[in-house]
Amino acid sequence: MTRTGGVPAIRLRSVAKSYRVGGTPVHALCGLDLDVRRGEFCSVMGPSGAGKTTLLNVLGCLELPDSGDYWLGGERVSELRDHELARIRNRAIGMVYQSFNLLATLTAVENVELPLVYAGVRHAERRRRAQEALERVGLSERSEHSPARLSGGERQRVAIARALVRQPQILLADEPTGNLDSGTAAGIMQLLADLHGSGNTILCVTHDPQVAGQADRIVRVLDGRIVHADDEKVHASVAH
Ligand code: ADP
Ligand code: MG
Repeated sequence: MTRTGGVPAIRLRSVAKSYRVGGTPVHALCGLDLDVRRGEFCSVMGPSGAGKTTLLNVLGCLELPDSGDYWLGGERVSELRDHELARIRNRAIGMVYQSFNLLATLTAVENVELPLVYAGVRHAERRRRAQEALERVGLSERSEHSPARLSGGERQRVAIARALVRQPQILLADEPTGNLDSGTAAGIMQLLADLHGSGNTILCVTHDPQVAGQADRIVRVLDGRIVHADDEKVHASVAH
């Protein structure tokens, strides 16, 4: 099967997710529908509290929805058990965070190897694949540095290499440029655009309209739902 067409990378239908705070439910996702095509680069925008991180946590198989359906590359995630969820998360998902989440006591290449350690890949093979991933993000010269000796942009590149090292079906990024100055942020977005150009499927939450503008499509989230461009037009015409 080719990477385009056929089964979408991601399909969400009527996905709901609530948290309990004290006795009160907080509805983070309220019947959300979303399709992402294979090979698509999608950015997600929306105000704070809209449900963007919750959406990424569901997509990343960190949390199950309370109700609704989630298919990841044709596999129905929403009916999986916890250990199966962990398996699909490790195999199929690459996650990147605002705060990089690197282990300070490991070198860059050791950080990138970690997902392969969990996957039981032997040492020489691990090292080879981690070096390859560092090359893809333009950091092969820094592989023996600890995170403390890397700049913010370099740390995020290491985190992206770690997310890519198992060749996931989709790369999910939650405000990956949120801790970076604008010049460094532009470099990270260029990297994501390059990765997209070489066939990766990417979903990236961002506050920055310039960052979002690099994607194929901007998905807007408000109050736990996707707001469609058509809805915005309807709201605008009602307002007039
Ligand atoms: P965003 O990333 O768009 O800022 P979130 O997905 O983090 O939004 O949050 C959506 C809503 O869910 C918010 O009202 C937030 O307070 C609530 N929420 C998120 N995570 C939790 C949690 N672990 N416990 C309780 N409430 C949460
Ligand atoms: Mg968030």
